Amino acid sequence: MRILITGANRGLGLALSQVGAERGHQILAGVRNIQQSEASLTQSEINKSISLLPLDVTDEESVTSAANTVKENFGTIDAIINNAGVLLERDKQIEDLDLDQMKVTFDVNFFGPIRVVKHFLPLLMMGDRSSIINISSEAGSISNAYAGDYAYASSKTALNMFSQQLNQYVKSKNINVYAIHPGWIKTDMGGVRAPGDPMDTAKGIFDIIEGKREIGSQNVFITYEGQPMPL
Ligand code: NDP
Repeated sequence: MRILITGANRGLGLALSQVGAERGHQILAGVRNIQQSEASLTQSEINKSISLLPLDVTDEESVTSAANTVKENFGTIDAIINNAGVLLERDKQIEDLDLDQMKVTFDVNFFGPIRVVKHFLPLLMMGDRSSIINISSEAGSISNAYAGDYAYASSKTALNMFSQQLNQYVKSKNINVYAIHPGWIKTDMGGVRAPGDPMDTAKGIFDIIEGKREIGSQNVFITYEGQPMPL
């Protein structure tokens, strides 16, 4: 399969690119900085099955231009993984919140996936195995709300809603939409104390993309192992 991954240069996005390439998929690795990303996505992997694609999800022109490049060079894609995300203003109290930083959070975590879907949906193949994966978080679960990470949590709640709406829209085209909680994993965002390995999460997500997991047709917000998450 040919799969677009945003934020592919480090953390979960890098693990997804590596696992996808290992499993024989063609990876279109969306990154903000091509030079820096060549160091993390090794040259041999790039030559083999990972193509770097300049892509800043907050910049609609960058997204349009990436979609045009993919259309010209590859024609179609089979899956989109909206992985790029930021956690700004971590643990700040309401009284100390910086609204501009909150807007940036929404721009990346919520409007980012919308921009990508807006411009890449026309390239997505219609078929049983096509999917749109939005990397969400348990922080976005309203029933598990905690008093912190305000913009991050609500940007993921909004992303869950967008995923539900998108699922309704593309159901008739046989495209699966999931908002996936990747677990608490060791990345720059998750920190060194996180128990999870991003490679395990990436393998779980590819099992879902490859149709190896039984997932109830009503379930959109799920874990990387395909279990339902509380909204
Ligand atoms: P990292 O901070 O390690 O990586 C974030 C990635 O997003 C980087 O590749 C970064 O690129 C990219 N990115 C940030 N802003 C933009 C932008 N404007 N355009 C394109 N790419 C951008 O985070 P993780 O790998 O941990 O997070 C991946 C996803 O998983 C996120 O959506 C996050 O919310 C989610 N998640 C992570 C958890 C964890 O425990 N780690 C838990 C729950 C959810 P650059 O290097 O250029 O900054």
